[in-house]
Amino acid sequence: MSKEAQQRMEKIVSLCKRRGFIFQSSEIYGGLNGFWDYGPMGVELKRNLKDFWWRRVVHEREDMVGMDGSIIMNRAVWKASGHEETFSDPMVDCKTCKARHRADQLPKKDDVPYCPACGGRDLTEPRAFNLMLKSYAGPLESEENLVYLRPETAQAMFVQFKNILETSRKKLPFGIAQIGKAFRNEINPRNYIFRSREFEQMEIEYFCRAEDGLALTDYWLEERLKFYEDIGIPRSKIKIHDIPDGERAFYSKKTYDLEYEFPFGVSELEGVAYRTDYDLSAHIKHSGKPLEYFDDEKKEKFVPHVVEPSAGVDRTALALICEAFDEEEVTDEKGNKEVRTILRFHPRMAPVKCGIFPLLKNKPALVEKAKAIAASLRPHMMVFYDEAGAIGRRYRRQDEVGTPFCVTVDFDTIGENGPEKTDTVTLRHRDSMEQERIPISALRDRLEAAIF
Ligand code: ATP
Repeated sequence: MSKEAQQRMEKIVSLCKRRGFIFQSSEIYGGLNGFWDYGPMGVELKRNLKDFWWRRVVHEREDMVGMDGSIIMNRAVWKASGHEETFSDPMVDCKTCKARHRADQLPKKDDVPYCPACGGRDLTEPRAFNLMLKSYAGPLESEENLVYLRPETAQAMFVQFKNILETSRKKLPFGIAQIGKAFRNEINPRNYIFRSREFEQMEIEYFCRAEDGLALTDYWLEERLKFYEDIGIPRSKIKIHDIPDGERAFYSKKTYDLEYEFPFGVSELEGVAYRTDYDLSAHIKHSGKPLEYFDDEKKEKFVPHVVEPSAGVDRTALALICEAFDEEEVTDEKGNKEVRTILRFHPRMAPVKCGIFPLLKNKPALVEKAKAIAASLRPHMMVFYDEAGAIGRRYRRQDEVGTPFCVTVDFDTIGENGPEKTDTVTLRHRDSMEQERIPISALRDRLEAAIF
């Protein structure tokens, strides 16, 4: 990482803590490597992201339904899917300092890998390390009670395929969507929330006929690029990696990785994979249950193929923050130059949609009016009422959490300067810092048009 990129990343991490986006999990006990908590701003950002994803891929489509599977499933699921056998990363130990690393992520000098912790070259041979976190369901810590915390949400959509098909009465092609936690015992959690041990996924399994699989993979790639554009991540910032033959999973006929240019490097946000009929066939074989599809018109029975767009909530939230983070030099009313820190979130994603301020906190008429506006908007959007400090400071605080609009109630609003300005407020725009005067009655429509 360049020094500049490193500084940018440090500023982002510091802002996220200072403004309540992301905290270390169990921070007062020294944290826990690979686990994070989202604070009041972070949780709003994640909810906006998940809600918009759900709206786009489930509510706005006739061919999709949702589900919410359990995190812990019968161990047989992970035997059938191949995870118990093969869901592993290659691990090496440094014999000098005993640090443990992923063999495929070691830095190299003159083509020889070395330990990033101590620089030592005396490393063990790579060995497979299974990434599934284990637990026990039931009082006995026995082999029969061994369970895994799911490493992906996808399997629930395969094992419930038949139930969902029958209850939703969908015809091919159709898809199932799910958002939920996943767990991987990553050898080296790193790059902030990018690689964690507990994270959330937003996954789609889109079932189709074999002959449509490849075209639908390209279709979903395009849909997903549109989605990122609609949340404020332009196409120009996403690199499409068409995984070449020989590097894809053996069952996949096409896989695209969508990669974002993070300060720490170009890294995967989402994978769109054509998985053929591998998953359903594996569950048919292991469970002995019929998971085939019957086409009424053609009187054909077959195992559907599937295209899987699989995205990470946390990685996308981090991409949104990195994309939005900006600093610019501005001049205040007294002519002093200062640096303004802004998160230029798309209004759809912004944790707070509108800050609402009375010009002065010691004027009851202003306070009362501002509180009434906040109360009237609250059922419709996330607003933040703030009366503390100079108005410029209050704007800056909202800029730092990415609030796209601020409303100020002043003496015009309460009718002290004539009837034509009564019940109007100043609407201030985050990015341009421009201010305009609008009637209170027009406020909700104006804001909703921007945030929908
Ligand atoms: P990587 O190569 O980065 O380990 P992957 O290819 O194993 O990722 P998938 O199994 O395709 O990842 O998972 C789908 C999505 O889930 C990823 O694109 C990513 O957004 C998210 N994801 C996977 N592992 C993690 C993790 N450890 N922390 C956060 N998000 C993750």
